[in-house]
Amino acid sequence: MDKNWSDKNKQMQKLLAREKTFKEGISTLLELREELFSQITQIVMTYPKQAFCQMPYPKASGFHNKTLAYSIWHIFRIEDIVAHEMIAEDRQILFSKKYDKSIGSPIITTGNELAGDEIVEFSKKLNITKLYKYASNAKDSTDRILQKLEYPDLKRRFDEDMYRKLQESGCISSDEKASNLIDYWCSKDVEGLIRMPFSRHWIMHIEAMLRIASRIRQLARKGIDPIAYCGLSCDHCFLGLYCGSCRTDYNVCSNATMSPDGVCPNVKCCREKGYDGCYECEELESCQKGFYVPSNDGANAAKAHCLYIRKYGKKELLKVQDRLHKKFDFEKTQEILGQDLKEGLKILENN
Ligand code: SF4
Ligand code: SF4
Repeated sequence: MDKNWSDKNKQMQKLLAREKTFKEGISTLLELREELFSQITQIVMTYPKQAFCQMPYPKASGFHNKTLAYSIWHIFRIEDIVAHEMIAEDRQILFSKKYDKSIGSPIITTGNELAGDEIVEFSKKLNITKLYKYASNAKDSTDRILQKLEYPDLKRRFDEDMYRKLQESGCISSDEKASNLIDYWCSKDVEGLIRMPFSRHWIMHIEAMLRIASRIRQLARKGIDPIAYCGLSCDHCFLGLYCGSCRTDYNVCSNATMSPDGVCPNVKCCREKGYDGCYECEELESCQKGFYVPSNDGANAAKAHCLYIRKYGKKELLKVQDRLHKKFDFEKTQEILGQDLKEGLKILENN
């Protein structure tokens, strides 16, 4: 488990356990949930729709043997049921905001009963934009419920009526892979439910989502030219861990994510002009588009890459970058090449 999240989770439980620090515990829980939710947001905002029904680890035994869409659905169906049916005893967000109609899901259950291809087929049916809105609404609604809790509420337990209500809700499948959920929830008090599902369950599934997302990105990059349109090397880029390259649909470079259509201006321009990259363009030196805006301190270093590619080719640039990374400890190429285009080229040529 991610150390930072695990530590925060432990600290939150400690704080919740004492009346004096209870409110601080709730604030820590909300902070942790915010941090975790930002991971989901990042994936939803930067991954193409087709990524959400891919299952890159179908045979794994951990939570990563799922899809991204399923993981979001599952986390928030469980949360919605527990927060609204059990703690607040009001209507679930799925129904009150009509997400049962708009997401396109053929089920209203938690999805525990699904496995393998069933998960993939299920995921293909979901509208990811609506699913994300549902997740976001469910999270905010749970946060409000948590904020209203008082210390004595932690010890509240659930009786047979609650057990029956959950069974009759149709939100938990009677399949053996799902039916123990009701037993589990009803065996806990509110404090127990805060641990699972409001914090630990999130951590486990979001970590699995990050693993799935990373694998999807790796697979997308396989066999793809590692030189970006702007001249940078994806193989040596500090964002390489997160970015699937601007030559795939998995580009998380801010030039792409901040563009209205999600496409980096350099990529768009090269495609329109039929160029393999900006190194083929006569306007390179004066260009101020995308990565080359004058305010970007890496603009001239990327252009120096382009000039080098023009003279020696992409393979040689990759070799120089390998050598530079062996010699120096740096993240961004401009830390070595500096801000001057000609100087940057000289440094590449001398290494
Ligand atoms: S940010 Fe640009 S150079 Fe870095 S990995 Fe993504 S596309 Fe490649
Ligand atoms: S005009 Fe600029 S962005 Fe477009 S291909 Fe030329 S160098 Fe690249």
